[in-house]
Amino acid sequence: MIRTRFAPSPTGTLHIGSAHTALFNWLFARHHGGQFLIRIEDTDRERSRPEHVSAIMDGLAWLGIFPDEAPVFQLTRQARHAEVAMELLASGHAYRCWCTPEELTAMREKARAEGRPPRYDGTWRDRDPAEAPAGVAPAIRLRAPREGRTIVDDLVQGRVEVANTELDDMIILRSDGTPTYLHAVVVDDHDMRITHVIRGDDHLTNTFRQAQVYDLMGWSRPEFAHVPLIHGADGTKLSKRHGATSVFEFRDQGYLPEALLNYLVRLGWGHGDAEILSVEEMIALFDLDGVGRAASRMDYAKLGHVNGVWLRRAEDERLVAEVRARAPEIDAQKLLAIMPALKERARTLLELVEGSRFLVAPASPMEAKAAGLLTGESRAMLQELAGVLVETDFAPGALDAALRSFAEANGKKLGDVAQPLRAALTGRTTSPPIDATMAALGPGEVLARIRAVAN
Ligand code: GLU
Repeated sequence: MIRTRFAPSPTGTLHIGSAHTALFNWLFARHHGGQFLIRIEDTDRERSRPEHVSAIMDGLAWLGIFPDEAPVFQLTRQARHAEVAMELLASGHAYRCWCTPEELTAMREKARAEGRPPRYDGTWRDRDPAEAPAGVAPAIRLRAPREGRTIVDDLVQGRVEVANTELDDMIILRSDGTPTYLHAVVVDDHDMRITHVIRGDDHLTNTFRQAQVYDLMGWSRPEFAHVPLIHGADGTKLSKRHGATSVFEFRDQGYLPEALLNYLVRLGWGHGDAEILSVEEMIALFDLDGVGRAASRMDYAKLGHVNGVWLRRAEDERLVAEVRARAPEIDAQKLLAIMPALKERARTLLELVEGSRFLVAPASPMEAKAAGLLTGESRAMLQELAGVLVETDFAPGALDAALRSFAEANGKKLGDVAQPLRAALTGRTTSPPIDATMAALGPGEVLARIRAVAN
């Protein structure tokens, strides 16, 4: 059974890069009929906060990503991490190290002065514990292999390897009895029976040390898949400078969850030239062989395009509810009437909100260009038009026909009638098609707005 996990550190809300990682893990599990789990990596007690845990879970829930089991909290598992460290100690694959912080600092400085990377020199690796200094609590270090290479066949990166001489004996249990992060992750992934570790490629270098823990415990390693990170348009790590980065920001800016998922899945993964994918299609098609090695770039304009596609596919009732959640003053019936026309051009829910404000009242003050259309002549024309509209059935087809024949009878082009009319009704020069705009407002409101400008 394939089991994946998303392992966020609860130090903030759900970042778009983390959502990307969660999505890939979730899709891979779903695609293979497996299970997707969550582990909250809350061992950094300074920075981890319960409210960040809720924010991350809420962000995932908004995206429709739910784990198949209750989340595991890493901090609750420290006794188990220590137990495994003791097992490694008992089997001789780990040893106690009594180096003091001062000795370790001196060791690093010496290495640096000699132009070597600052590594632990193995002082206690083969030294007799009987020589341990009194009053110093020991840390436990992995007895990592010194010869050969550690090789990882990564499902995205291919074969990656390092000479074991490059890796020092890492601490797995600190002198205060707390586990180190790299050790904890291995124990947790093993106990959670994770088969595939899919995560950002910034963790690739950690994998060698983690692989060593698996090997020395005699545990089979999971498969690893290190996915390239998301960069900004300029190729640097995505940050606030580039635009929204938190999933909540995207939600608040009016992106639909299915659109964000659709956009995210295409960052670093592809299947032929498929661009617009529903969640069901993603589950059907997603696999790791479609994940590329190049960093992807966040393209906000493209996200807007994808969101527009999903807005047009969305049920009008749902969009009405979304708009009214942001602007309750807009009438639900009028909004529902205009929604099919409105969503044709919008890219975000916020644009839908802006585009439907005319239903409450015309823009105030009027857009300068719109005001410019309301000349003495066009006001007189609108007054005359009002007389025709009183007789007209307020359905888009009938309204369109009425406007056309009015224009023709007056020797005008349709636009010469529709534009001043639009200015009068909305205070703007752009709105959904004029017949749909009028039908949504209804006869009473249309005639009142015409009169307000005509007099
Ligand atoms: N907690 C790590 C992070 O948030 C994830 C580690 C992992 O996936 O192994 O970057």
